[in-house]
Amino acid sequence: MSFFYDVFVIVYTFLFRMFPLSYKTGIIRINHPDRDSPVFVTGNYALTVIRVKQALKTLNCFLLVANSKGINVWCGATGGHFTTHDVLSILKTSGIAEMVNHRKVILPQLAATGIEMKEIERESSWKIVWGPVYAKDIPKFIENEWTKTDNMRKVTFTFIQRIEMAVIWALPFSIIGSLIVGFIWPNMLLLFNALIWGLAFLTYTFFPYYVKQIPKGFHFSKYTILFDFNFLTFFIWLLTEIVLLCLALFVPGFVWQDFLQWSVTLLIVLLFISMDLKGSTPIAKSGLHEEGTIKINLDLDKCKGIGSCKEVCPRECFEVDKINHTAKVVRASQCVQCGACIVQCPLDAIVFRNIKGEIINPEMIRKYKLNLLGKRVEDPGATKIT
Ligand code: SF4
Ligand code: SF4
Repeated sequence: MSFFYDVFVIVYTFLFRMFPLSYKTGIIRINHPDRDSPVFVTGNYALTVIRVKQALKTLNCFLLVANSKGINVWCGATGGHFTTHDVLSILKTSGIAEMVNHRKVILPQLAATGIEMKEIERESSWKIVWGPVYAKDIPKFIENEWTKTDNMRKVTFTFIQRIEMAVIWALPFSIIGSLIVGFIWPNMLLLFNALIWGLAFLTYTFFPYYVKQIPKGFHFSKYTILFDFNFLTFFIWLLTEIVLLCLALFVPGFVWQDFLQWSVTLLIVLLFISMDLKGSTPIAKSGLHEEGTIKINLDLDKCKGIGSCKEVCPRECFEVDKINHTAKVVRASQCVQCGACIVQCPLDAIVFRNIKGEIINPEMIRKYKLNLLGKRVEDPGATKIT
């Protein structure tokens, strides 16, 4: 596709990241691949494909774009939109088997929450290698003979990513909010927008510094929107309330009606920006998800130290002792309950335990995927595999 299309995708996805955007599925030849060249698979979220193509531009290889319904790899795999079936389908229909001599395919690590390595290997002659979390690390990964460093396995939330998230939240709210405020309160439009953008940038820029202090958000009911009203939000709210109070008390033109209007506006803006704040980041579990309180549990009697758990965990929760053939959960508190370790452990040695201590069957995690409200529903892709 053209340069202009790539630019459109980059701009569009920067502004409207929450909406799917599909790329054509199929096979892409990068440079001059031959019969020994590596084969990569990714989902068909347009931005992902552009980033992966960019990362692969120095290699001779094949890129298979599978149908993730225009959703990014992690969300697609976790939500049951990028499935084992989709990967099997692109492997079988693209004709790649006739183009290469080997049967190794590199999948993005974050797809491990939804794509079952065991199933792919049982249903086809292909062997899966989990690639790095970020496409930019692929050339280094190939140079390291297809092995990942610890950093290549880890999700991060860099300053740039935080700025992107601030824009993603602020933009729609600013458009919708401006339509309402512009109608009822036109002279305050500029200030209203400054408030939205300023608070969004503040909230996301400082997120890693206060993430541990965020208490569980406010649920109005089990299925309604949650607000991760955190210490930063509370502090900003308190501060601005004091300023508004001073204005109302000491500035003659600022009447109590203004105080009330701004207090309500500020509260709405703050609540909106902190809506599912944790869920908008890769380093904390959405408070909407019922699984936010469950813990991983490793059964050492079953574990044989194969190491798939460490290979797919994006939060460095595991260490594997290659001498004693066993794994250890070393950073349980960092777990974001993505389920990748459970889906991939061939011996079912890892399970989730809920708050009552009950075990959640690994098959449940494999076959039921998280919907937007954080509930596990049957994975449509899994049922198609025969
Ligand atoms: S927990 Fe499972 S995947 Fe991890 S090392 Fe043990 S057997 Fe392997
Ligand atoms: S330990 Fe937690 S974060 Fe790591 S793969 Fe398992 S569920 Fe995901």
